[in-house]
Parts: sequence; structure tokens; C-alpha cells
Amino acid sequence: MPPIAYLECSRCQARISSQSPQTVCSQCTDQPAGSLYVRYDLSHLEGTSPKDVIGEVLARGGSNWTGMWRYRAVLPDVRPVTLGEGWTPMLHSKRHPAVFVKEEGANPTGTFKARGLALAVTMARHYGLQRLAIPSAGNAAGALAAYAAAAGIEAHIFMPRDVPIANYLEAVAYGAKVTLVNGLISDCARIVAERKQEEHWFDVSTLKEPFRIEGKKTMGYELVEQLGWEYPDAVFYPTGGGVGLIGMWKAFEELEELGWVKPGKRPRMIAVQSSGCAPVVRAFEAGANACQMWQNASTFAAGLRVPKPYGDSMMLDILRTSKGIALSVSDEEILASILDWARNEGILLSPEGASVTAAYDKLLASRDLTPSERVVLFNTGAGLKYADVIAEAMHLQRPVLELQSAD
Ligand SMILES: [Zn+2]
Repeated sequence: MPPIAYLECSRCQARISSQSPQTVCSQCTDQPAGSLYVRYDLSHLEGTSPKDVIGEVLARGGSNWTGMWRYRAVLPDVRPVTLGEGWTPMLHSKRHPAVFVKEEGANPTGTFKARGLALAVTMARHYGLQRLAIPSAGNAAGALAAYAAAAGIEAHIFMPRDVPIANYLEAVAYGAKVTLVNGLISDCARIVAERKQEEHWFDVSTLKEPFRIEGKKTMGYELVEQLGWEYPDAVFYPTGGGVGLIGMWKAFEELEELGWVKPGKRPRMIAVQSSGCAPVVRAFEAGANACQMWQNASTFAAGLRVPKPYGDSMMLDILRTSKGIALSVSDEEILASILDWARNEGILLSPEGASVTAAYDKLLASRDLTPSERVVLFNTGAGLKYADVIAEAMHLQRPVLELQSAD
């Protein structure tokens, strides 16, 4: 297990100590301040075989070191708060021989958010933090509530009032202090920013806390390991806040530094958004380095309702460096893809996950991609967490039963 060497600013490259809890870079002269990357001295692992390193973790580890903690050799050296997150299935499509679905719905709380928040709460407990606050489009709230409960830490949650009912239910059930806001995640973020000092909250907002990226980077390690320590040709990622995209790219850098994969053949990173809220797509197409706030964001893919992601510049840089692309699909296309994959593959995708399956179909049709290119499509959450919003999109109502009398 590596001790953390320092935290590094993604904008000004300042090095900051991890001895006390940090949010964003305190040295940046330009605003917004850069997000911080966790850096380790990994030199003792160079030239090792990943199978040996992970095998040793699993052999020695006991129940705490399963799931994403199989990568503890490249994670902070602290005792984890774990609910069994990570090491999710890589499902092979029945219709597309070169397509794999990374099924993040298998995580605790049913989404990929478990990875980042497991690590953020692990570090919060390590630092002795007592009160965490988060603005969320829904799924991060549920995950924070669960891990905070497991760690005995207070969670203060702010999310839009029209989040899927599962997100509200789980946050309340886990004992979090929940405020429903008449607005979007950007409005929730403003409330947390205004009140955090007075309330003594530590802000674990997307990319304003360094360890959520570290948790999400395990998706990059996992997909490479599950494909036999080789990169796919492309990774499709539904992009709201974009931490997973940034985390996976960091994983690829580390994997190459360690010699665990051959450098030079990284996948194209494909960011997918809903046409009802597509700030990254608009910035990508305009050649811009940052997003403009998207007005009147609206989509039933709740996790994609992020009108201006904090990590916009980092994502745009990764998309261009990887020769990737950003594209949007409509809510109608998302719903059609949910039903297509449910009926033909037996997988009930989340709306966010179905945005990438719809985008895959589009890129095949436009010949931006060939059917033989090996791709990983991220289903970031279980479709069942969206029971109410998918039912509404399908105009599905429970039939009224006609009761028959006994005689
Ligand atoms: Zn900085």
C-alpha cells in the first residue's frame, strides 16, 4: 500500500500536502480553482506483474479487501469503509460481439457513485470529519448517505425535488439530513457553498474533494483487467459531472507508469449527454476549453442534468487527447434503447446507461465506429432505481384490477 506523496493541482500543478483534508487547490490564481489529483510514489511497483500484486492482496486481505479494494496497492493506505463496492460484471452483448457492458448497477446503492463515495467517506473517517455535505442529482446522495451511515458520520444532502423517488427514499432511510431544492444540482451546490462554513460541513461535491476521483479510477483498472490487461478501442461514458471519465484516464496513466499495460494505445473516450442538457457536447463542438451554463436543463436521465460540470476543462482535454468525441441523444432515443436492451439482452439499463447504448448505435450508423471495434459501454446504474421516471416515460400505469365476486 502506497503512502500518499502529495496532492497535485490539475490546473497549476501546485503540490499540496494530504496531511489535512483538502477541497480544491489553494494556490490557483485563476478561478475556478483546480481539482486535486492524489499522487503516490509507485516506484516499488514498477516492473511487477499486476496478477501477482492483486493476487497477494486477495490472498492476504480477508473480507475488507474485496471489490474495488483489490487495487489497494494503488489506493490510500487507510482502513476502508466498505459495503462491497466495485468488481462489477463485464457483460458481453448477445448481439454485438465486440461490445461489453460494464454493469455498475451491481454496486451497493445500485450505481457507480458507490466507488467515489466509499473512498471519500473512508478518507473523511481517517481525517476525523464529522459532517459531510453534498449537492447531488440523486445517485451520489444515496451513496453518500449509505457510506456515511456505515461510518457513523452525518450526511447533509441537497438534491432537486424531482429526483427519482428511490434517491429520496434511500437518503432518508439511511438517516441523512435531506433537503429537496426547487431547482437543479447547480442550485444545490450554491446552497452548500453558502452554508458550509457556518454549519461546519466538509463539502464532498464532485471534483471539489480529491478522493472521489480515486474511487472512480478503479473503473479504469477494472475494465482493463477484465479485458485481459488490454485497452478496448473506445469507452462510452454517460457524462454528468464526469468524475469517472477523469478517474479512468488517471488509471490509464498509472497503469502505463507501472508497466501493467502497453502505452500508446489508450481508448477513445466517448462522452454522452442528453440533448436536454449537453453542455460538454456544445463546448466540444465549439472547440472551447470550458462549458457555458446550460439553460433550462431537462431530461429524465437525472444524472445527466448537470448544467455546468466543475471538471469541464479536464474532461474536454481528455476527450481531445484521446481522439474521442462528445455527442448527445434525445430522451426518446434513450427510452427506445432502454426497451431494446431490456427485451433483447435482458438488461434493464438506467436512462444514463441507455444514453450510451443509443450513442453506440448512432456512431455505428454514422460510420464513426465499426462493429469490430472493441468497446466498453458504461451502465452507471440499475434501471430499477428509476422505476418512477421510466414508468412515466413509458406512460405505464398499474392496471386497475377488475375484482370478480365469488358467486
Ligand atoms: Zn492550482
